[in-house]
Amino acid sequence: MNFCSNCGSDALKWEIPLGDNRPRYQCSNCGTIFYQNPKIVVGCLALWEGKVLLCKRGIEPRKGLWNLPAGYLENGETVESGALRELWEEAGAKLKLWHQHTLYSLTHVNQVYIHFIGDLIEGKHHAGEETLDSQLFAPEDIPWSSIAFTSTEFAIRRYLESDTTPDTPIVHLGEYIPK
Ligand SMILES: [Zn+2]
Repeated sequence: MNFCSNCGSDALKWEIPLGDNRPRYQCSNCGTIFYQNPKIVVGCLALWEGKVLLCKRGIEPRKGLWNLPAGYLENGETVESGALRELWEEAGAKLKLWHQHTLYSLTHVNQVYIHFIGDLIEGKHHAGEETLDSQLFAPEDIPWSSIAFTSTEFAIRRYLESDTTPDTPIVHLGEYIPK
């Protein structure tokens, strides 16, 4: 940050505010404190006849690699409506939503992923604007070496290991552990 978004001053300090316990950007001119907190990413694990829907990313980072449809939650959205929106934007698909599937923290990039799981409606999907391709993969065909993000690998592995059904609302809690 270079300028205060409240008053426009360039007098920003990186200091621990009075009564706080970690440094924040603070404006010396108007006193505003700028809190920076993790972003929420929402997505879907969509199933059809035992297969998992993956999208080949058309944008950086990890362009050309496969990922579950997901993206940043927007202001004013519930987590589930954001996940369904991302599924529609990236994969042209709709979901009969079962329940939440994962809660996955990435502390090194300050993100929290929430994936939902359900049935792809009528098995329909097509690549959206930021997607090069969308495909359904049988468990034995999952392209493990070409998965974009660990959050996707975590969500698929927990699904394959756990006999998830619409009536078993288990949330798998995980975090990224650097190798
Ligand atoms: Zn200011």
